[in-house]
Amino acid sequence: MTQVNEAGLGADALEVLKVVERFARDEVRPVGMQLDALADPDEVIAAGSPLWTLHDKYRALGVDSLSLAGSFEPAEQAMLSARITETLGWADGGLAVSLAVAGFPKFFIALTGDPKLTERYLSADSSEIGCWAITEPDHGSDSLAFSEPHWTRPEVRPNCIARLDGDEWVINGSKAAWVSNAPVATYAALFCTIDGDEGFAGGGVCITPLDLPGVSRGKNLNKLGQRALPQGELHFDDVRVPAANMVIGKPMYSMTVEMTLALANAFMGSTFAGLARAAYEAALEYAKDRVQGGVPIIQHQNVRSRLFKMFAKVEAAASLSRRTMLIGNAGPPPIHYSIASKTYCTTTAFEVASEALQIFGGNGLTKEYPIEKIMRDARAAMIEDGCNEMLSLVGGSKL
Ligand SMILES: Cc1cc2nc3c(=O)[nH]c(=O)nc-3n(C[C@H](O)[C@H](O)[C@H](O)COP(=O)(O)OP(=O)(O)OC[C@H]3O[C@@H](n4cnc5c(N)ncnc54)[C@H](O)[C@@H]3O)c2cc1C
Repeated sequence: MTQVNEAGLGADALEVLKVVERFARDEVRPVGMQLDALADPDEVIAAGSPLWTLHDKYRALGVDSLSLAGSFEPAEQAMLSARITETLGWADGGLAVSLAVAGFPKFFIALTGDPKLTERYLSADSSEIGCWAITEPDHGSDSLAFSEPHWTRPEVRPNCIARLDGDEWVINGSKAAWVSNAPVATYAALFCTIDGDEGFAGGGVCITPLDLPGVSRGKNLNKLGQRALPQGELHFDDVRVPAANMVIGKPMYSMTVEMTLALANAFMGSTFAGLARAAYEAALEYAKDRVQGGVPIIQHQNVRSRLFKMFAKVEAAASLSRRTMLIGNAGPPPIHYSIASKTYCTTTAFEVASEALQIFGGNGLTKEYPIEKIMRDARAAMIEDGCNEMLSLVGGSKL
Protein backbone atom coordinates (compact mmCIF):
# COMPACT_ATOMS: atom_id res chain seq x y z
CA MET A 1 0.00 0.00 0.00
CA THR A 2 1.82 3.07 -1.24
CA GLN A 3 0.96 6.17 0.73
CA VAL A 4 2.42 9.60 1.27
CA ASN A 5 3.87 9.90 4.75
CA GLU A 6 2.24 12.68 6.65
CA ALA A 7 3.04 14.39 9.93
CA GLY A 8 1.82 12.75 13.11
CA LEU A 9 3.92 9.60 13.42
CA GLY A 10 7.44 9.46 14.84
CA ALA A 11 10.06 6.82 14.06
CA ASP A 12 8.81 4.31 16.67
CA ALA A 13 5.22 4.57 15.49
CA LEU A 14 6.29 4.19 11.85
CA GLU A 15 8.19 1.05 12.85
CA VAL A 16 5.01 -0.39 14.42
CA LEU A 17 3.09 0.51 11.28
CA LYS A 18 5.63 -1.30 9.10
CA VAL A 19 5.19 -4.47 11.13
CA VAL A 20 1.41 -4.20 10.72
CA GLU A 21 1.78 -3.58 6.97
CA ARG A 22 3.79 -6.79 6.60
CA PHE A 23 1.25 -8.74 8.67
CA ALA A 24 -1.62 -7.27 6.61
CA ARG A 25 -0.01 -8.06 3.26
CA ASP A 26 1.52 -11.46 4.04
CA GLU A 27 -0.98 -12.94 6.48
CA VAL A 28 -4.34 -11.16 6.64
CA ARG A 29 -5.01 -10.72 2.93
CA PRO A 30 -4.16 -14.31 1.85
CA VAL A 31 -6.12 -15.79 4.76
CA GLY A 32 -9.09 -13.56 3.92
CA MET A 33 -9.12 -14.75 0.32
CA GLN A 34 -8.83 -18.38 1.42
CA LEU A 35 -11.69 -18.11 3.93
CA ASP A 36 -13.90 -16.13 1.53
CA ALA A 37 -13.67 -18.96 -0.99
CA LEU A 38 -15.05 -21.58 1.44
CA ALA A 39 -18.58 -22.59 0.46
CA ASP A 40 -19.61 -23.60 3.98
CA PRO A 41 -19.15 -20.95 6.71
CA ASP A 42 -18.64 -23.74 9.26
CA GLU A 43 -15.27 -24.40 7.58
CA VAL A 44 -14.17 -20.85 8.49
CA ILE A 45 -14.23 -21.77 12.18
CA ALA A 46 -13.30 -25.47 11.92
CA ALA A 47 -10.26 -26.79 13.82
CA GLY A 48 -7.22 -26.14 11.66
CA SER A 49 -8.76 -23.07 9.97
CA PRO A 50 -6.14 -20.32 9.50
CA LEU A 51 -8.56 -17.98 11.31
CA TRP A 52 -7.31 -19.32 14.66
CA THR A 53 -3.61 -18.82 13.96
CA LEU A 54 -4.33 -15.38 12.53
CA HIS A 55 -5.92 -14.36 15.84
CA ASP A 56 -2.91 -15.77 17.74
CA LYS A 57 -0.46 -13.88 15.54
CA TYR A 58 -2.41 -10.64 15.83
CA ARG A 59 -2.53 -10.90 19.63
CA ALA A 60 1.22 -11.50 19.67
CA LEU A 61 1.82 -8.27 17.70
CA GLY A 62 0.32 -6.25 20.60
CA VAL A 63 -0.90 -3.42 18.37
CA ASP A 64 -4.48 -3.03 19.59
CA SER A 65 -5.38 0.28 21.27
CA LEU A 66 -5.16 -1.04 24.84
CA SER A 67 -1.74 -2.62 24.28
CA LEU A 68 -0.40 0.58 22.71
CA ALA A 69 -1.78 2.84 25.46
CA GLY A 70 0.97 4.67 27.31
CA SER A 71 3.63 4.02 24.65
CA PHE A 72 2.76 7.16 22.68
CA GLU A 73 1.24 10.57 23.32
CA PRO A 74 -2.56 10.41 22.83
CA ALA A 75 -2.53 12.28 19.49
CA GLU A 76 0.20 10.08 18.07
CA GLN A 77 -1.56 6.97 19.34
CA ALA A 78 -4.81 8.13 17.74
CA MET A 79 -3.07 8.60 14.39
CA LEU A 80 -1.25 5.29 14.73
CA SER A 81 -4.52 3.49 15.53
CA ALA A 82 -6.13 5.09 12.49
CA ARG A 83 -3.27 3.94 10.24
CA ILE A 84 -3.14 0.41 11.72
CA THR A 85 -6.89 0.05 11.30
CA GLU A 86 -6.78 1.30 7.70
CA THR A 87 -3.97 -1.11 6.94
CA LEU A 88 -5.89 -4.10 8.28
CA GLY A 89 -9.02 -2.95 6.41
CA TRP A 90 -6.95 -2.64 3.23
CA ALA A 91 -6.01 -6.32 3.64
CA ASP A 92 -9.50 -7.68 4.43
CA GLY A 93 -12.52 -5.78 5.77
CA GLY A 94 -14.14 -8.76 7.53
CA LEU A 95 -10.96 -10.04 9.19
CA ALA A 96 -10.04 -6.51 10.29
CA VAL A 97 -13.37 -6.42 12.14
CA SER A 98 -12.88 -9.91 13.60
CA LEU A 99 -9.42 -9.02 14.97
CA ALA A 100 -10.55 -5.69 16.41
CA VAL A 101 -13.76 -7.01 17.99
CA ALA A 102 -11.83 -9.86 19.67
CA GLY A 103 -10.30 -7.38 22.12
CA PHE A 104 -13.25 -5.00 22.30
CA PRO A 105 -14.77 -6.09 25.68
CA LYS A 106 -11.41 -5.44 27.34
CA PHE A 107 -12.21 -1.71 27.34
CA PHE A 108 -15.01 -2.31 29.84
CA ILE A 109 -12.90 -4.60 32.02
CA ALA A 110 -10.08 -2.04 32.08
CA LEU A 111 -12.58 0.60 33.25
CA THR A 112 -13.84 -1.49 36.18
CA GLY A 113 -10.50 -2.73 37.49
CA ASP A 114 -12.32 -5.82 38.86
CA PRO A 115 -9.50 -8.20 39.96
CA LYS A 116 -11.10 -11.48 38.80
CA LEU A 117 -12.06 -10.13 35.38
CA THR A 118 -8.68 -8.42 35.04
CA GLU A 119 -6.81 -11.63 35.80
CA ARG A 120 -8.82 -13.73 33.35
CA TYR A 121 -9.16 -11.32 30.44
CA LEU A 122 -6.40 -8.71 30.64
CA SER A 123 -3.38 -10.85 31.48
CA ALA A 124 -0.62 -10.82 28.86
CA ASP A 125 -1.04 -14.53 28.04
CA SER A 126 -4.85 -14.43 27.75
CA SER A 127 -6.02 -16.03 24.51
CA GLU A 128 -9.69 -15.15 25.01
CA ILE A 129 -11.67 -13.96 21.98
CA GLY A 130 -14.39 -11.39 22.62
CA CYS A 131 -17.48 -10.12 20.85
CA TRP A 132 -19.89 -7.19 21.13
CA ALA A 133 -23.42 -8.57 21.43
CA ILE A 134 -26.03 -5.83 21.12
CA THR A 135 -28.21 -6.62 18.07
CA GLU A 136 -31.24 -8.80 18.83
CA PRO A 137 -33.42 -10.96 16.58
CA ASP A 138 -36.29 -8.41 16.79
CA HIS A 139 -34.14 -5.29 17.28
CA GLY A 140 -31.38 -4.20 14.90
CA SER A 141 -31.46 -0.43 14.50
CA ASP A 142 -33.62 -0.20 17.66
CA SER A 143 -30.76 -1.39 19.86
CA LEU A 144 -28.38 1.36 18.67
CA ALA A 145 -30.63 4.36 18.02
CA PHE A 146 -30.53 5.88 21.49
CA SER A 147 -31.59 9.28 20.13
CA GLU A 148 -34.94 8.02 18.79
CA PRO A 149 -38.31 8.06 20.63
CA HIS A 150 -38.62 4.24 20.97
CA TRP A 151 -35.52 4.15 23.25
CA THR A 152 -37.40 4.83 26.50
CA ARG A 153 -40.71 3.18 25.58
CA PRO A 154 -41.54 0.25 27.91
CA GLU A 155 -43.81 -1.38 25.30
CA VAL A 156 -40.83 -2.04 22.97
CA ARG A 157 -39.79 -5.40 24.42
CA PRO A 158 -36.10 -6.33 24.07
CA ASN A 159 -35.10 -10.00 23.52
CA CYS A 160 -32.36 -10.43 26.10
CA ILE A 161 -33.14 -9.75 29.78
CA ALA A 162 -30.99 -9.88 32.93
CA ARG A 163 -32.63 -10.26 36.36
CA LEU A 164 -30.76 -9.90 39.67
CA ASP A 165 -31.09 -12.96 41.92
CA GLY A 166 -29.00 -12.61 45.11
CA ASP A 167 -25.43 -12.03 44.05
CA GLU A 168 -25.93 -13.27 40.49
CA TRP A 169 -27.53 -12.03 37.30
CA VAL A 170 -29.77 -14.51 35.53
CA ILE A 171 -29.81 -13.95 31.77
CA ASN A 172 -32.50 -15.17 29.38
CA GLY A 173 -33.07 -14.54 25.68
CA SER A 174 -31.08 -14.18 22.47
CA LYS A 175 -28.72 -11.97 20.51
CA ALA A 176 -28.97 -11.86 16.71
CA ALA A 177 -27.02 -13.87 14.17
CA TRP A 178 -25.14 -10.68 13.28
CA VAL A 179 -22.88 -10.65 16.32
CA SER A 180 -19.35 -10.59 14.87
CA ASN A 181 -17.10 -13.37 16.25
CA ALA A 182 -20.02 -14.98 18.18
CA PRO A 183 -19.25 -18.47 16.79
CA VAL A 184 -15.64 -18.30 18.03
CA ALA A 185 -15.85 -15.96 21.01
CA THR A 186 -15.07 -17.19 24.53
CA TYR A 187 -16.82 -14.21 26.14
CA ALA A 188 -19.10 -11.31 25.27
CA ALA A 189 -19.63 -7.70 26.19
CA LEU A 190 -23.34 -8.44 26.42
CA PHE A 191 -25.49 -5.33 26.04
CA CYS A 192 -28.69 -6.61 27.63
CA THR A 193 -31.80 -5.12 29.20
CA ILE A 194 -32.09 -5.11 32.97
CA ASP A 195 -35.48 -6.33 34.14
CA GLY A 196 -37.84 -3.35 34.42
CA ASP A 197 -40.01 -1.05 32.36
CA GLU A 198 -37.58 1.49 30.92
CA GLY A 199 -37.28 -0.14 27.50
CA PHE A 200 -33.84 -0.04 25.88
CA ALA A 201 -32.78 2.82 28.14
CA GLY A 202 -32.82 0.43 31.10
CA GLY A 203 -29.92 -1.67 29.87
CA GLY A 204 -26.59 -2.88 31.19
CA VAL A 205 -23.29 -4.28 29.96
CA CYS A 206 -22.48 -7.70 31.35
CA ILE A 207 -19.14 -9.43 30.77
CA THR A 208 -20.49 -12.88 30.01
CA PRO A 209 -18.26 -15.95 29.66
CA LEU A 210 -19.67 -18.06 26.84
CA ASP A 211 -18.70 -21.39 28.42
CA LEU A 212 -21.34 -21.06 31.17
CA PRO A 213 -24.21 -23.58 31.47
CA GLY A 214 -27.22 -22.35 29.49
CA VAL A 215 -25.27 -20.61 26.71
CA SER A 216 -25.79 -22.02 23.21
CA ARG A 217 -25.00 -20.81 19.69
CA GLY A 218 -26.97 -20.76 16.48
CA LYS A 219 -25.85 -21.61 12.97
CA ASN A 220 -22.83 -19.89 11.51
CA LEU A 221 -24.20 -17.22 9.16
CA ASN A 222 -23.80 -17.71 5.38
CA LYS A 223 -23.64 -14.27 3.81
CA LEU A 224 -22.77 -12.14 0.75
CA GLY A 225 -19.70 -10.26 2.01
CA GLN A 226 -17.14 -10.38 4.81
CA ARG A 227 -17.39 -14.17 4.67
CA ALA A 228 -14.15 -14.52 6.64
CA LEU A 229 -15.85 -12.86 9.62
CA PRO A 230 -17.73 -15.51 11.64
CA GLN A 231 -21.21 -14.48 12.78
CA GLY A 232 -24.02 -16.33 14.53
CA GLU A 233 -26.72 -16.18 17.22
CA LEU A 234 -26.14 -16.43 20.96
CA HIS A 235 -28.84 -17.92 23.20
CA PHE A 236 -29.08 -17.62 26.98
CA ASP A 237 -31.21 -19.97 29.03
CA ASP A 238 -31.06 -19.13 32.79
CA VAL A 239 -27.39 -18.25 32.50
CA ARG A 240 -26.00 -17.22 35.91
CA VAL A 241 -23.26 -14.57 35.96
CA PRO A 242 -21.60 -13.05 39.08
CA ALA A 243 -23.07 -9.66 40.03
CA ALA A 244 -19.68 -7.94 39.53
CA ASN A 245 -19.73 -8.84 35.82
CA MET A 246 -22.49 -6.26 35.17
CA VAL A 247 -19.86 -3.59 34.61
CA ILE A 248 -22.32 -0.91 33.44
CA GLY A 249 -25.75 -0.50 35.00
CA LYS A 250 -28.92 1.37 34.03
CA PRO A 251 -27.82 4.93 34.96
CA MET A 252 -24.80 4.82 32.61
CA TYR A 253 -26.24 2.58 29.90
CA SER A 254 -27.45 5.13 27.30
CA MET A 255 -24.20 7.07 27.59
CA THR A 256 -22.25 3.82 27.22
CA VAL A 257 -24.12 2.89 24.03
CA GLU A 258 -23.27 6.33 22.66
CA MET A 259 -19.56 6.06 23.58
CA THR A 260 -19.30 2.50 22.29
CA LEU A 261 -20.94 3.35 18.99
CA ALA A 262 -18.67 6.40 18.73
CA LEU A 263 -15.56 4.26 19.18
CA ALA A 264 -16.79 1.43 16.93
CA ASN A 265 -17.90 3.77 14.14
CA ALA A 266 -14.56 5.61 14.19
CA PHE A 267 -12.79 2.26 13.72
CA MET A 268 -15.23 1.29 10.98
CA GLY A 269 -14.42 4.56 9.17
CA SER A 270 -10.70 3.79 9.22
CA THR A 271 -11.21 0.12 8.26
CA PHE A 272 -13.24 0.95 5.19
CA ALA A 273 -11.11 3.93 4.18
CA GLY A 274 -8.43 1.22 3.94
CA LEU A 275 -10.64 -1.10 1.90
CA ALA A 276 -11.53 1.78 -0.47
CA ARG A 277 -7.80 2.21 -1.09
CA ALA A 278 -7.43 -1.51 -1.82
CA ALA A 279 -10.15 -1.27 -4.49
CA TYR A 280 -8.55 1.80 -6.08
CA GLU A 281 -5.08 0.23 -6.11
CA ALA A 282 -6.38 -2.95 -7.74
CA ALA A 283 -8.08 -0.91 -10.48
CA LEU A 284 -4.99 1.25 -11.04
CA GLU A 285 -2.75 -1.78 -11.43
CA TYR A 286 -5.19 -3.45 -13.80
CA ALA A 287 -5.58 -0.29 -15.89
CA LYS A 288 -1.82 -0.12 -16.41
CA ASP A 289 -1.75 -3.72 -17.53
CA ARG A 290 -4.89 -4.27 -19.62
CA VAL A 291 -4.44 -3.31 -23.26
CA GLN A 292 -7.37 -2.21 -25.44
CA GLY A 293 -7.18 -0.16 -28.65
CA GLY A 294 -3.46 -0.98 -28.68
CA VAL A 295 -2.62 0.84 -25.42
CA PRO A 296 -2.99 0.17 -21.67
CA ILE A 297 -6.52 1.31 -20.78
CA ILE A 298 -5.17 3.94 -18.36
CA GLN A 299 -4.08 5.86 -21.43
CA HIS A 300 -7.70 6.30 -22.48
CA GLN A 301 -8.74 9.67 -21.10
CA ASN A 302 -12.02 8.45 -19.73
CA VAL A 303 -10.38 5.65 -17.71
CA ARG A 304 -7.73 8.00 -16.35
CA SER A 305 -10.34 10.51 -15.27
CA ARG A 306 -12.42 7.76 -13.57
CA LEU A 307 -9.33 6.58 -11.69
CA PHE A 308 -8.59 10.12 -10.61
CA LYS A 309 -12.08 10.53 -9.15
CA MET A 310 -11.55 7.28 -7.22
CA PHE A 311 -8.20 8.53 -5.96
CA ALA A 312 -9.79 11.76 -4.70
CA LYS A 313 -12.54 9.84 -2.88
CA VAL A 314 -10.03 7.48 -1.26
CA GLU A 315 -7.93 10.39 -0.03
CA ALA A 316 -11.02 12.20 1.30
CA ALA A 317 -12.04 9.04 3.22
CA ALA A 318 -8.54 8.67 4.68
CA SER A 319 -8.52 12.34 5.73
CA LEU A 320 -11.93 12.22 7.40
CA SER A 321 -11.27 8.95 9.23
CA ARG A 322 -7.84 10.08 10.49
CA ARG A 323 -9.20 13.47 11.58
CA THR A 324 -12.03 11.72 13.42
CA MET A 325 -9.58 9.53 15.32
CA LEU A 326 -7.45 12.60 16.11
CA ILE A 327 -10.46 14.47 17.48
CA GLY A 328 -11.05 11.45 19.76
CA ASN A 329 -7.45 11.78 20.98
CA ALA A 330 -7.14 7.99 21.55
CA GLY A 331 -10.67 7.82 23.02
CA PRO A 332 -14.18 7.88 21.51
CA PRO A 333 -14.67 10.94 19.26
CA PRO A 334 -17.93 12.93 19.50
CA ILE A 335 -20.45 10.59 17.95
CA HIS A 336 -21.48 12.78 15.00
CA TYR A 337 -17.85 12.80 13.83
CA SER A 338 -17.60 9.02 14.16
CA ILE A 339 -20.85 8.52 12.29
CA ALA A 340 -19.78 10.97 9.57
CA SER A 341 -16.59 8.94 9.18
CA LYS A 342 -18.34 5.54 9.21
CA THR A 343 -21.10 6.45 6.79
CA TYR A 344 -18.81 8.36 4.40
CA CYS A 345 -15.99 5.80 4.37
CA THR A 346 -18.20 2.73 3.97
CA THR A 347 -20.19 4.40 1.18
CA THR A 348 -16.93 5.45 -0.45
CA ALA A 349 -15.54 1.92 -0.17
CA PHE A 350 -18.62 0.54 -1.93
CA GLU A 351 -18.69 3.23 -4.65
CA VAL A 352 -14.96 2.95 -5.35
CA ALA A 353 -15.12 -0.86 -5.39
CA SER A 354 -18.05 -0.75 -7.79
CA GLU A 355 -16.24 1.69 -10.09
CA ALA A 356 -13.08 -0.43 -9.82
CA LEU A 357 -15.04 -3.50 -10.89
CA GLN A 358 -16.24 -1.56 -13.94
CA ILE A 359 -12.62 -0.78 -14.83
CA PHE A 360 -11.86 -4.52 -14.71
CA GLY A 361 -14.65 -5.08 -17.27
CA GLY A 362 -15.91 -8.67 -17.42
CA ASN A 363 -12.90 -9.89 -15.49
CA GLY A 364 -14.14 -7.93 -12.50
CA LEU A 365 -17.13 -10.22 -12.18
CA THR A 366 -15.01 -13.36 -11.86
CA LYS A 367 -13.39 -14.89 -8.82
CA GLU A 368 -10.07 -14.92 -10.72
CA TYR A 369 -9.68 -11.27 -9.69
CA PRO A 370 -9.89 -9.70 -6.21
CA ILE A 371 -12.37 -6.93 -6.92
CA GLU A 372 -15.71 -8.75 -6.65
CA LYS A 373 -14.77 -9.84 -3.09
CA ILE A 374 -13.78 -6.31 -2.14
CA MET A 375 -17.12 -5.04 -3.44
CA ARG A 376 -19.06 -7.66 -1.45
CA ASP A 377 -17.07 -6.88 1.70
CA ALA A 378 -17.65 -3.13 1.28
CA ARG A 379 -21.39 -3.65 0.73
CA ALA A 380 -21.80 -5.37 4.10
CA ALA A 381 -20.16 -2.41 5.84
CA MET A 382 -23.05 -0.08 4.95
CA ILE A 383 -25.22 -2.18 7.31
CA GLU A 384 -22.55 -3.25 9.85
CA ASP A 385 -22.40 -1.35 13.15
CA GLY A 386 -25.69 0.31 12.23
CA CYS A 387 -27.38 0.89 8.86
CA ASN A 388 -25.96 4.11 7.42
CA GLU A 389 -29.42 5.71 7.11
CA MET A 390 -30.28 5.12 10.76
CA LEU A 391 -26.82 6.20 11.92
CA SER A 392 -27.35 9.48 10.07
CA LEU A 393 -30.47 10.07 12.18
CA VAL A 394 -28.46 9.53 15.37
CA GLY A 395 -25.61 11.75 14.11
CA GLY A 396 -28.11 14.39 12.99
CA SER A 397 -29.59 14.54 16.49
CA LYS A 398 -26.27 16.01 17.70
CA LEU A 399 -26.11 18.91 15.24
C1 LIG B 1 -21.06 -7.48 8.72
C2 LIG B 1 -21.87 -7.14 9.94
C3 LIG B 1 -21.28 -7.16 11.21
C4 LIG B 1 -22.03 -6.88 12.36
N1 LIG B 1 -21.44 -6.98 13.59
C5 LIG B 1 -22.21 -6.87 14.71
C6 LIG B 1 -21.64 -7.08 16.02
O1 LIG B 1 -20.44 -7.29 16.17
N2 LIG B 1 -22.46 -7.02 17.09
C7 LIG B 1 -23.79 -6.78 16.99
O2 LIG B 1 -24.47 -6.79 18.00
N3 LIG B 1 -24.36 -6.52 15.76
C8 LIG B 1 -23.59 -6.57 14.64
N4 LIG B 1 -24.16 -6.33 13.39
C9 LIG B 1 -25.57 -5.98 13.30
C10 LIG B 1 -25.81 -4.58 12.79
O3 LIG B 1 -25.43 -3.61 13.72
C11 LIG B 1 -27.30 -4.53 12.38
O4 LIG B 1 -27.45 -5.37 11.26
C12 LIG B 1 -27.77 -3.15 12.09
O5 LIG B 1 -27.86 -2.40 13.28
C13 LIG B 1 -29.10 -3.11 11.36
O6 LIG B 1 -30.05 -3.93 11.98
P1 LIG B 1 -30.96 -4.91 11.11
O7 LIG B 1 -30.04 -5.72 10.27
O8 LIG B 1 -31.85 -5.64 12.06
O9 LIG B 1 -31.81 -3.98 10.17
P2 LIG B 1 -33.14 -3.17 10.60
O10 LIG B 1 -32.91 -2.41 11.83
O11 LIG B 1 -34.30 -4.10 10.55
O12 LIG B 1 -33.26 -2.14 9.40
C14 LIG B 1 -33.89 -2.45 8.16
C15 LIG B 1 -34.01 -1.16 7.33
O13 LIG B 1 -34.86 -0.21 8.02
C16 LIG B 1 -34.17 1.03 8.21
N5 LIG B 1 -34.54 1.56 9.54
C17 LIG B 1 -34.61 0.88 10.71
N6 LIG B 1 -34.97 1.68 11.71
C18 LIG B 1 -35.09 2.92 11.20
C19 LIG B 1 -35.42 4.18 11.76
N7 LIG B 1 -35.67 4.34 13.05
N8 LIG B 1 -35.48 5.24 10.92
C20 LIG B 1 -35.20 5.09 9.61
N9 LIG B 1 -34.86 3.91 9.03
C21 LIG B 1 -34.81 2.85 9.82
C22 LIG B 1 -32.68 0.69 8.13
O14 LIG B 1 -31.91 1.81 7.69
C23 LIG B 1 -32.67 -0.46 7.12
O15 LIG B 1 -32.58 0.04 5.81
C24 LIG B 1 -23.40 -6.57 12.22
C25 LIG B 1 -23.99 -6.50 10.95
C26 LIG B 1 -23.25 -6.78 9.83
C27 LIG B 1 -23.91 -6.71 8.47
